[in-house]
Amino acid sequence: MTASFIPPKRILMGPGPSDVPQRILDAMARPTIGHLDPAFVDLMEQIKSMLRMAFQTENALTFPVSAPGSAGMEMCFVNLVEPGDKVIVCRNGVFGGRMLENVKRTRGVPVIVDDAWGAPVDPQKVRDAFKANPDAKILAFVHAETSTGAQSDAETLGRIAQEAGALTIMDCVTSLAGTPLYMDKWGIDAAYSGSQKCLSCTPGLSPVSFSERAIARIKARTTTVQSWFLDLNLVLGYWQSAGKRTYHHTAPINPMYGLHEALVILEEEGLENAWTRHRAMHEKLKAGLEGMGLRYVVEESARLPQLNSIYVPTGVDEAAIRARLLNEFNLEIGAGLGDMAGKIWRIGLMGYSAKQENVDACLKALKACLP
Ligand SMILES: *Cc1c(COP(=O)(O)O)cnc(C)c1O
Repeated sequence: MTASFIPPKRILMGPGPSDVPQRILDAMARPTIGHLDPAFVDLMEQIKSMLRMAFQTENALTFPVSAPGSAGMEMCFVNLVEPGDKVIVCRNGVFGGRMLENVKRTRGVPVIVDDAWGAPVDPQKVRDAFKANPDAKILAFVHAETSTGAQSDAETLGRIAQEAGALTIMDCVTSLAGTPLYMDKWGIDAAYSGSQKCLSCTPGLSPVSFSERAIARIKARTTTVQSWFLDLNLVLGYWQSAGKRTYHHTAPINPMYGLHEALVILEEEGLENAWTRHRAMHEKLKAGLEGMGLRYVVEESARLPQLNSIYVPTGVDEAAIRARLLNEFNLEIGAGLGDMAGKIWRIGLMGYSAKQENVDACLKALKACLP
């Protein structure tokens, strides 16, 4: 007989998932109810309202997609891009590359704006791309590039797109609740995030938000959305019309309890206080890492507090160190992705993981493992 699975106790300081507070796990263990039960409809309305607070938006169409962040990304592209549409895609790490892949698969025409891995998106290159492509309909960029730890200037990028009359798709999977984000003030039309990064919930849900302009674009489509599951025209009847909700799919009920609790916790702390805490913990971790002679990948002005990328010291077997951290200290940190594999470590300070105990545990463990 196979025994029940009991996971080891870990400290999660990688690029996500982050530590999940017991309160959220307890919420998820409550009895499952039906997804058309009026009590579940109430829960959904509260989640939507609290997500508007997290995104700093008034957008009516703000809800969690029943799938991970990658599905939120795909929902934005399959609904907003029609075959032949020109999309300016900023690529300064892995996730910008995935946006490009989405543009190609929706048969949009990508215009790529490349920046070095570890650098933020250069707004001047985006201005130039719009100048050379005045027919571009969408600008797509990653606010917080988790693969490198770089933060781009979303406010400036949003303004450039608006001036060019284009819509904006923003990846804020790692930025939501971790670093200042003002969807409406910045004029962002479509944004997607994830439950398991700075919201500290379990993985598997993707909060998204769409502006009125984005909805108008979707309603004016001349071709059907290629994905049945992610077609907003269909999903809308399920999430938007309280009272007369129609069956589309079965929402993951208990994970929704978890997301609700995560947002209640965020409300209790205060969004700005959460941003401040991430920054304060980053300062402490940075002081410790630099004290050990470790160097950051990203220049200070573009550094994400919740994702600390540092160079692996020369002559050190990075995978062996990570294995020791996990096996001897129960501490998970992230490896480099793509071009940065083997060269960097990524230390996350996301959500509930952004606390003094974790900073101390990480510095102590690294000190013990580094030569
Ligand atoms: C984690 C992440 C994603 C993907 O989210 P999943 O929940 O793993 O599908 C997308 N973009 C960024 C910037 C991320 O950090």
